[in-house]
Amino acid sequence: MSRELSELFDRNRQWAASTEARSPGFFTGLLSQQSPRYMWLGCADSRVPANELVDLLPGELFVHRNVANLLVHSDLNALSVIQYAVDVLGVQHIIVVGHSKCGGVRAALDNHRSGLVDNWLRHVQDVRDTHEAFLSGLPDELRIDALVELNVLEQSRNVCRTTIVRDAWQRGQSVAVHGWVYGLHDGLLRDMAITASAHEEVADAYDVALASLRQRWRQAVRQRASRTTSTEASGSTSPISSTVSSRAPSSL
Ligand SMILES: [Zn+2]
Repeated sequence: MSRELSELFDRNRQWAASTEARSPGFFTGLLSQQSPRYMWLGCADSRVPANELVDLLPGELFVHRNVANLLVHSDLNALSVIQYAVDVLGVQHIIVVGHSKCGGVRAALDNHRSGLVDNWLRHVQDVRDTHEAFLSGLPDELRIDALVELNVLEQSRNVCRTTIVRDAWQRGQSVAVHGWVYGLHDGLLRDMAITASAHEEVADAYDVALASLRQRWRQAVRQRASRTTSTEASGSTSPISSTVSSRAPSSL
C-alpha cells in the first residue's frame, strides 16, 4: 500500500481509539441499529463535510451527496436513500444543502464543458434558465451564489414532490423538508426558509422563499452599487473594500 494510503489507515486507527476513549462502547452501541433524526442531501464537494460542520457523530446523520446537491426524479440512487430514510429510519428532517462558490453550479452557469458530468449539470442549467430574467439582472460575480440559492429552493421542492415524501405526509408521518446554504468563507449555514412539512405548504413555502431570495439579492446589488459610488468618490482603490463588496449579500 502506498504511504499516502497507509497514512489514512493510521489516522483511522487514531480516530477510532480516541472516539472509543471519549465514549466507551460507542461503536458496539451502533451495531444493532441507527436512528438518525436528519437526512442530509448535499454537494459532493470535499470542503462541505456533512457530519463535521453540524458536529454530529456517526449514527446521527443519514447522508446522500452528489455534484451540486440535486434531487432528480429519475435518480434511483437518491430516491432510494430518501425512501430508506423516510420509510425505514423515520427521519424527521430532510435538509438540502448547497454551498457558496459551488464548482458544479459555476460550470453549469458558465456552460463549461467537463465531460459526462455536463449531462448531470444540465439540471442546474434548467434552474438557471427558469430564473434567467432574475439572474441576468445581477452582476457576473454575484450570479453564481444566487444560482446556488435558487438551486437549493428547486431541489428542496423536488424532494417535497417525491412520491416518498408525499406518501409520508398523506399517512400523517412527521417529516419536514428544508433548504440551507453553507458559506465556504465562514463555515456557517444559512436557512433559505423553504421549510415544508405538509403538501399544502410546499407552494407557499417556495413562493415566499423565492421572493425573499430575490429581494435579498437585489438589495445586495444596490448596496454594492452605493459602495462602489462612495469608493469612487473618495478616490479609494482599497482591495479590502472591493473584496468586501464582492462578498454580498451577507447571507453568503
Ligand atoms: Zn458544490
